[in-house]
Amino acid sequence: MSKPKLALYWASSCGGCEIAVLGLHEKILDVAEAFDIVFWPCVMDFKYEDVEAMEDGEIDVCLFNGAIRNDENAHLAHLLRRKSKVMVAFGSCAFGGSMPGLANFNDREQMFNYIYHDSPSTDNPDGIVPQQRTDMPEGELVLPNFWNTVKTLAQVVPVDYYLPGCPPEASSIETAVTAIVSGELPPPGSVIGPDITVCDECPREKHEKKISRFYRPQEIIPDPDTCLLEQGLFCAGIATRSGCGARCPQVGVGCRGCYGPNEGVYDHGAKIMTGIASVLDADTPEEVEAILDTLPDPAGYFYRFHMPDSLLRRTARTNGKKLLASEQVAASEL
Ligand code: SF4
Repeated sequence: MSKPKLALYWASSCGGCEIAVLGLHEKILDVAEAFDIVFWPCVMDFKYEDVEAMEDGEIDVCLFNGAIRNDENAHLAHLLRRKSKVMVAFGSCAFGGSMPGLANFNDREQMFNYIYHDSPSTDNPDGIVPQQRTDMPEGELVLPNFWNTVKTLAQVVPVDYYLPGCPPEASSIETAVTAIVSGELPPPGSVIGPDITVCDECPREKHEKKISRFYRPQEIIPDPDTCLLEQGLFCAGIATRSGCGARCPQVGVGCRGCYGPNEGVYDHGAKIMTGIASVLDADTPEEVEAILDTLPDPAGYFYRFHMPDSLLRRTARTNGKKLLASEQVAASEL
C-alpha cells in the first residue's frame, strides 16, 4: 500500500521550524516510515515544477511554516494548497505572522530605508538597494515582489489546522503527526494542542500580583521559585496557550507568547495587554504611564507573535513619510 504523501515548506521564517522537525531526533524515522516526503526544499533537492506536475489534492498533508510577505510566498501557498488535502499552518509565523509580522508597524519604504541606508551597521556609499528586475549577460534576474503588509497563511489560503510555537515543541509535532497518521484529527480549523495557558503548566509559586515596575532580564536575578511576572519580569504566560510545558518560565525566562491565544481570543496582543494592565500597582493614569515607561517596546512585547492577525493588522501605511497624529488611523491593507 502506498504511503500518504507529505510536503514541508518554509515561506518568510527563520528556519527554526525546519530545525524543530529535525529535533524529533529518531522520531523523524517514524515520519519517514509513515510518509512519502514529496517536497521539502530545505532538506532535499525538489523543484517547484515537481509540485506543479502533481495532481490537485495529491499531497495528503502539507506542513507550511512562515508568514506571507512576498509574491513567491503567496505563489507557493496557493500551489501547495491546491495540491494538498490537509494544510497545516506550522509554527507561529504561519499561524499569526510572528516576528516577520512586526514589519506591519512599518511599511516597505521605511524598512528599505533603514536596512539599506540608515542602520548603524550599514555601509552602502552608493545607496544600492535590491531591484526587482536586473539584466545580466546570462539573462534577467527577478526577485519576488516584497509586500507592504505581512499576512498569515490563513489570510492567503484556507488552512485546516494550526500548530503554534516558535518553533513548535517536538512533543507538539509528535502529537500532530500521530493525530494525522491515526486519522484522529480534531475538527477542521482547530489548533492542535491543549487549550490551557502557560500559567496553568508553570510550576512557579503564584501569589497576588502587584507590579510597580518592570525589569529587563539582565537587571535582576529572579527568585527561582516565584512567578516571574510578580518579580517584574515580563511574562505573557497569563494570556498564552500552552502545550510547550512552560519551558521558558521554568528556566527563568518570561513567556514571550509564541503559542498564541487560547480559544475564543480574537486579539492576542490585546489579551496580553489586558492581563498585564490588571496586575499594575497603579491608581492613576500617571502611575500607569510611569510603570509602562519601564517596559521597553510594549507594542513589540504584546504583538510579537500575532500582529498581522490582530484586529489592528498593521499601522497606517505612510510610504516612508511620517504622518501627523491626526492622520494616524489604523489601516488594514488586505
Ligand atoms: Fe504564569 Fe509566567 Fe508567572 Fe509562570 S512565570 S506563573 S507562566 S506569569
